[in-house]
Amino acid sequence: MEEQGSGGNNFIRHYINRDLETGRFDGRVVTRFPPEPNGYLHIGHAKSICLNFGIATDYHGHCNLRFDDTNPEKETPEFVAAIERDVAWLGFQWHDRPLYASDYFEQLYHYALELIEQGKAYVCEQTPEEMRLSRGTLTQAGKASPWRDRSVAENLQLFTEMRQGKFGDGSRVLRARIDMASPNMNMRDPTLYRIRHGVIHHQTGNEWCLYPMYDYTHPISDALEGITHSLCTLEFEDHRPLYDWVLENISLPHHPQQIEFSRLNLQYTVVSKRKLLRLVSEGHVSGWDDPRMPTLAGMRRRGYTAASIRTFCDRIGVTKADNSVEMGVLESSVRDDLNHNAPRRMAVLQPLKVIISNYAADCEELLTAPNHPQRPEMGERVIPFSREIWIDRDDFREERPNKHFKRLVSGGEVRLRNSYIIRCDRVEKSETGEVVTLYCSYDEQTLGRNPADGRKVKGVIHWVSAAHAVAAEVRLYDRLFNRPNPEQVAEGEDFLHSLNPQSLTILESCYLEPELAESEVGVSVQFEREGYFCLDSEQEHGGRPIWNRTVTLRDSWAKIEEQREQ
Ligand code: ATP
Ligand code: MG
Repeated sequence: MEEQGSGGNNFIRHYINRDLETGRFDGRVVTRFPPEPNGYLHIGHAKSICLNFGIATDYHGHCNLRFDDTNPEKETPEFVAAIERDVAWLGFQWHDRPLYASDYFEQLYHYALELIEQGKAYVCEQTPEEMRLSRGTLTQAGKASPWRDRSVAENLQLFTEMRQGKFGDGSRVLRARIDMASPNMNMRDPTLYRIRHGVIHHQTGNEWCLYPMYDYTHPISDALEGITHSLCTLEFEDHRPLYDWVLENISLPHHPQQIEFSRLNLQYTVVSKRKLLRLVSEGHVSGWDDPRMPTLAGMRRRGYTAASIRTFCDRIGVTKADNSVEMGVLESSVRDDLNHNAPRRMAVLQPLKVIISNYAADCEELLTAPNHPQRPEMGERVIPFSREIWIDRDDFREERPNKHFKRLVSGGEVRLRNSYIIRCDRVEKSETGEVVTLYCSYDEQTLGRNPADGRKVKGVIHWVSAAHAVAAEVRLYDRLFNRPNPEQVAEGEDFLHSLNPQSLTILESCYLEPELAESEVGVSVQFEREGYFCLDSEQEHGGRPIWNRTVTLRDSWAKIEEQREQ
């Protein structure tokens, strides 16, 4: 038999291959991605999306998008829409239409009645505090609830009345009747249903005041959809016995296999929706799509490509080992993609005026430059050249600081990228001694040629014609937290303590080559020698378009780690 699913190699595919060999699930493979619509998707979700959709594709099965919407207080239609947008942007197509756990509320209720009829569920009137105290500990068995041995008839009556809205929030729950002495705390008569009045559910409105718990809803939703392999993160390993118990005790014949894998953690950021929500609601970032956020919306706005995120998920793989991935791994996936695909442009981020004295003021010429030096098929663009240009302040020193400095110095020469060689003849300074203008002369024989007299000019710097430049605001992003594991906080400390106050640097006055006036939002280009940048989705700030730095040219994280280790 031809081996299926060879598109990747992980222990989950090993299980699936075995199920295919033994004919379990009639040779079908159906997966699902089950987000709760209580926040935006983050890079951790991308791992789960790539895994679930990737497996479905490779095994010629399908993958459902199912909203796990049993917590209406925290869920909104905005989050539902954002999740759909992000999954599609990442490049995946769910089967049929988006599904909702709430589609199954009626069936879930019906199966709860089945459990009650078998004496396997009961209505409990303990307060949450009493329930907590009687649950026991890891070393001590729990104590049975005084309501545990109610008759089936009474339980049916009470549960029906719970649905009808006769009881207040928190006054009663439906509990599974399993084993108060189980070594697995999840099996000590877990709650299956709770009462919530007065919330409007984004899908079911005010139809229900009874809401099923995740651990009860998930196995049944999976089974109803014919899911074969229910992939979830490791923290659900201890819940698997309950997943199986629910399906073993109701009349639904299908029983999916739950398989757990480790969550993705990414250094210098957090991937917990609860924490991301705090960053947003307390205003530490501008929103869920702030380019510093590890959300898919934030990464898209910052210029990350969907392909590079998929590559990243491929590279980190899927295992059962908990780990924290270096940010450099994600950024190198982005860089690899953009290095190959992003057109090259010139932009001056810290402008210093250069006047080319021997170039006529009423003259200009149109130079051409390749869009990508290694990929001629990407074509060329036109770059205007004129008497006044901008160069970067960092590319000039009055005195050569060391022999490695190949850029412009007083009296020295440098090549303007894609253009002529210029010599710095005179430096004009302000009263405070700041260099304001360089007066240079150009060598008109040096366009695309070395000097005829054989003199060597090694440095090449970028520039932009002042008369033609597009003024822009450029935003540079740094890590959001200044600790590799911001989620690990000391007692009494908050994860926000390690927020990096320097995560955003705004350069208000930058100049871009005119080609960049027509740019597509979110599509990165390389600013030569500076990094990759893209036009922001916000229209402008102070009359200027905003550009985001997607990623630097080289790995700046390695340096941060080096400094930390010293
Ligand atoms: P969070 O802790 O961010 O709230 P969650 O698990 O509650 O995450 P869900 O919306 O329930 O968020 O997640 C949908 C799916 O994505 C689940 O199957 C979950 O296991 C998976 N997932 C969530 N976070 C990660 C992560 N960091 N790495 C891998 N998979 C994840
Ligand atoms: Mg969850």
